[in-house]
Amino acid sequence: MKLYEFQAKQVFASQGIPVPRGEVASTPEEARAAAERLGRCAVKAQVHIGGRGKAGGIKLANSPDEARDYAAGMLGKPLRGLMVKRVLVEEALDIGLEYYLSTTIDRTTKRVVLIASAKGGMDIEEIAATEPDSIIKHSIDPAYGPLDFEIRDVMARAGFDAKASRAIGAIVRQVYQTMLDADASLVEINPLVVTGGGAVVAADAKFDVDDNALFRQQALAQFREESEEDPIEAEAHRRGATYVRLGGDIGIIGNGAGLVMTTLDLVTRAGGHPANFLDIGGGAQADSVQEAIEIVLLDPKVKGILFNIFGGITRGDEVAKGIIAGTKSIDIKVPIVVRMAGTNAEEGRRLLEGTNLVPAAGPIEAAEKIIQLSRQ
Ligand code: GDP
Ligand code: MN
Repeated sequence: MKLYEFQAKQVFASQGIPVPRGEVASTPEEARAAAERLGRCAVKAQVHIGGRGKAGGIKLANSPDEARDYAAGMLGKPLRGLMVKRVLVEEALDIGLEYYLSTTIDRTTKRVVLIASAKGGMDIEEIAATEPDSIIKHSIDPAYGPLDFEIRDVMARAGFDAKASRAIGAIVRQVYQTMLDADASLVEINPLVVTGGGAVVAADAKFDVDDNALFRQQALAQFREESEEDPIEAEAHRRGATYVRLGGDIGIIGNGAGLVMTTLDLVTRAGGHPANFLDIGGGAQADSVQEAIEIVLLDPKVKGILFNIFGGITRGDEVAKGIIAGTKSIDIKVPIVVRMAGTNAEEGRRLLEGTNLVPAAGPIEAAEKIIQLSRQ
C-alpha cells in the first residue's frame, strides 16, 4: 500500500523526522484558509505519481488568494491520469540544498539498504540514468541497525554538506526505525532539503507499506481507504480479497497467484481483456467463492467470468458448491466458464451439471470459451 505524501509526513512527524508545517485541503477555500495560517506556501497535488513538479502538481503561492487559485486548478482534475482529491498546503521552504535519502529492501541480501545521493530533487531513476556514481548504497545489518560510522561514511561518500551531517545522521536513523516500525518496503525522502538557515527538512515523502503487515499496523491500515484510487479495489480489499482491477471485461477467479496470472496470460493471448486478478487462495470454501463472484461483479464492465481452479488443498466439490451458491444468491447476467482439475474435480464437475455454468476441459479452451460467450 502506498501512502500519500501528507499521510507519510504524518508518520514522519510522529517518528520525529522534521517536515514542513502543512495542512491538507480538499476545497480551494480550505487551501486559502490554510495559506492564511502558513504564509508563503507550496500547494501540492496528492496523487501517487512522482515528478508532480514537472507535471504542474506543485505550485508556489505568494498569497492566500493565489493558493486558492492554484488549488482550484488542481482539485477535481486529473494529473497524469490520476484524479486530485486533495492538496497539501505547506509553508514554503528556503531551499539551500536538495538531497536524496531512502531505505528499501534488497531482496538479494535480504536486508534493508540505505540509499543516498547529493543529487536530490529529480526522480531516482533519472539520477540513476544521468549520474549513477552519485548514488551511494549501503546494506544494513539487521542485528545492529545503521551504526554511526556507517552513516558518516555514507554521507561523506554521497558528498553531503558536513555542516548538515549531524541533523541528517539523526534522520537516517529515524528513517531506518520508521521502516522497521511501519513494516515499510520503501521510505523515500526526495528532496531532503537543507534550508538556507541550515535546517534539514523532509520536503517530499514516499512511503510503501507491506500489505501483508497491515493486520498489525492498525494506524496505517486506517490510511488504506483514503489512499486507494479505485473504489472497486477498495471495496474488494475491505472484504479481504486479493484483488487487482485490470480494466478489461473478463472477470478472472482462480486459486493461487501463479495460476491466476497464467489465466490472465491465456485470456490475453486468446484475444481477451482481463477485468481483474482475484486469487481465492488455498482451501477456499463455498462462501469465499460466492464472495469472489460478488466482488468480480462489482465491476460493471465485466461481461463474463472465468474460473480456473486447480484442486490441491482447495477441493473441486467445495468450489462447485460455492459457484452454485453464488449464482443462486445473486442475479448473474453474465456467462460463467469453469475449468477444474485436481482434487475432487470429478465431483465438482458433476455438481455443475444441469446448471447454466459452462464447463471447460482445459485452461486454453476455457479462455477461448469465455471470450466467445462474453461477446455474444
Ligand atoms: P515531486 O515532483 O512529485 O517529487 O514533488 P516534490 O515535493 O519533490 O517537489 C518538487 C520540487 O519542488 C522540489 O524538488 C523542489 O525543488 C521544488 N520546491 C520549490 N519550493 C518548494 C517548497 O517550498 N516546498 C517543497 N516541498 N518543494 C519545493
Ligand atoms: Mn519528490
